[in-house]
Amino acid sequence: MKWLWPCWLLLAPACVSPLSALKQQRPVAALQGTFVIQYAPVDDTTQTQLVNAIEKALPTVAQWGPLKAPITIYLLPSHEDLESAVGRHGYDWLKAWARYGEIYLQSPRTWSTRATPDAEVIELLTHELTHCAMYQRIGTPETWAQKDVPLWFREGMATWTAGQAYRWPALEELSHFLNEKRGDPIDSPEDLYQHESDIVYGAAHHAFSFLVMRYGTAKVQTLLDAMGRGLHFDAAFTEATGVSAKSFTLEFERFVRWRAFRGSGKSIHRNDMLRPVGR
Ligand SMILES: [Zn+2]
Repeated sequence: MKWLWPCWLLLAPACVSPLSALKQQRPVAALQGTFVIQYAPVDDTTQTQLVNAIEKALPTVAQWGPLKAPITIYLLPSHEDLESAVGRHGYDWLKAWARYGEIYLQSPRTWSTRATPDAEVIELLTHELTHCAMYQRIGTPETWAQKDVPLWFREGMATWTAGQAYRWPALEELSHFLNEKRGDPIDSPEDLYQHESDIVYGAAHHAFSFLVMRYGTAKVQTLLDAMGRGLHFDAAFTEATGVSAKSFTLEFERFVRWRAFRGSGKSIHRNDMLRPVGR
């Protein structure tokens, strides 16, 4: 199921209109952060589900550091309102969009014809709040969007943290995609975003999992801290791991294309190994 989207682009001026209809406010104070949910009366029940999801997601997100700045969650009553708010059109699978201190969320009430289970809302909030935690750790409201964090790292970190491997193509499928030379979802994902987002998110998830397998989460923390000190992504990556980000992604692509995950021992034999530890 496609339902997430990279979350770094600035909003278009046109976003003001749907947000102005969200006149209800629900403050939420938690140990790991403070939030305000802005919503329309039609989502009076949904915002209660959202409060629960925030509280359930926060302990997992906290591994990436505190949410230093308050976060406003705009609970948009329809998919059209979400697309209008974020200035993106033609992305049927889009459900949410995160920035430094804001999350734009299509109301879970409208995700499908059935009632959305709490677990799906928690999963999505975990993904989006991971973006916020990273942005707040690596920069300020003025600098976070200028750190040149590549999509594979940004989205891989979020989907890894939210345990979303089951949503994306497995390593075998990714290997097939790469060997057919249908595109480069790691280093040139732009052409694939809109119509092959599953492969983009899958590649991001597996690349981030590979990073954790190779270097451990401690090096990821070091990388984030280096960006927090002012480095851009490439310099911070090299400082944290001792190799360039380009060398790493090439190594990952070889790992996938040559199907090294098949027979290199128990630790990398099964695709589900590349899911978050402990989830
Ligand atoms: Zn995302």
